[in-house]
Amino acid sequence: VQDFEFTSALTLDEAVSMLAAKQGHGRALAGGTDLLVQLREGTRSAELIVDLKRIPEFMPLEWSASRLRLGAAVPCSRIYRDQKIARHFPALVDAAKIIGGWQIQTRASIGGNLCNASPAADGIPPLLVHSAVCHLVGPSGTRRISVSEFCVGPGKNQLGAGELLVAIELPISPARAASAYERFIPRNEMDIAVVGVGAYVELAPDGATIEQARLALGAVAPTPILAEEAAAYLRGKPATEENITHAATLAKAVARPITDRRGTADYRRHLVGVLTKRTLRQAIDRAKAS
Ligand SMILES: Cc1cc2nc3c(=O)[nH]c(=O)nc-3n(C[C@H](O)[C@H](O)[C@H](O)COP(=O)(O)OP(=O)(O)OC[C@H]3O[C@@H](n4cnc5c(N)ncnc54)[C@H](O)[C@@H]3O)c2cc1C
Repeated sequence: VQDFEFTSALTLDEAVSMLAAKQGHGRALAGGTDLLVQLREGTRSAELIVDLKRIPEFMPLEWSASRLRLGAAVPCSRIYRDQKIARHFPALVDAAKIIGGWQIQTRASIGGNLCNASPAADGIPPLLVHSAVCHLVGPSGTRRISVSEFCVGPGKNQLGAGELLVAIELPISPARAASAYERFIPRNEMDIAVVGVGAYVELAPDGATIEQARLALGAVAPTPILAEEAAAYLRGKPATEENITHAATLAKAVARPITDRRGTADYRRHLVGVLTKRTLRQAIDRAKAS
């Protein structure tokens, strides 16, 4: 392992200026559950590691009437213990519960999961289906970009040198809306998704028609992606098994999976179909019960 300096920043300005001064040779640390493994394996290097967890801006779960502001370093265990998050963003809780085991979950953050930009990251499809927005702060100021624009390739994101993801904003859904996330892994736990699918639906007042839908797929493209056509097909249609099945076929069509040791491209496409149906049914059931 290459030697590095480790420091805990106490303010956002301090973290930004320390990382900016390193001109790309510094790295932020939230939970460290990706970063420390990557440093040890030599797939990432850093001269300076800056711990973010003592900076208040990275740790809130802050509610307003229209949104949740989720601090980028909030650990998964805080997310899945929160009843209000479970009510408004059930797909996020589904994902937070399956990222690693409980030791990992007390450290690992959804912000770190997003910044690590793995195509198979479990936390990203739930953010995509909830139309989440990233709040970034860097040496040249602040900006907001949607989660759908944030990842640009495997392990690559939009962040510039010294720029940090401070929080993720999730808009609160209307009544009769819900979401779900499921992944397929060959073992019972602690594995990387072969495929992951997130689904979000809003039902009309009749409780039977889908007013709004969004679907997101993980591990079938260089980044997690929205399956736009499949979701558009469902809008305005009855929440029937036939329509769910057709949406699953459309979702399979946008998947661009590779074959690797975890599964073949064909197998992954098949799984997209299975998980799209399952998560849509789950989201619809949850929306009906909400
Ligand atoms: C045993 C084990 C099991 C795992 N299981 C899963 C799993 O089931 N599903 C899954 O998706 N992942 C899994 N992971 C990977 C990892 O735990 C998750 O991706 C986790 O969410 C990463 O969060 P973190 O806070 O630990 O990120 P860190 O390791 O702290 O950071 C990850 C990357 O993002 C950067 N970063 C972090 N926060 C910020 C920020 N606010 N601004 C800018 N850059 C930032 C870091 O510099 C680093 O490059 C597992 C890891 C281990 C070790």
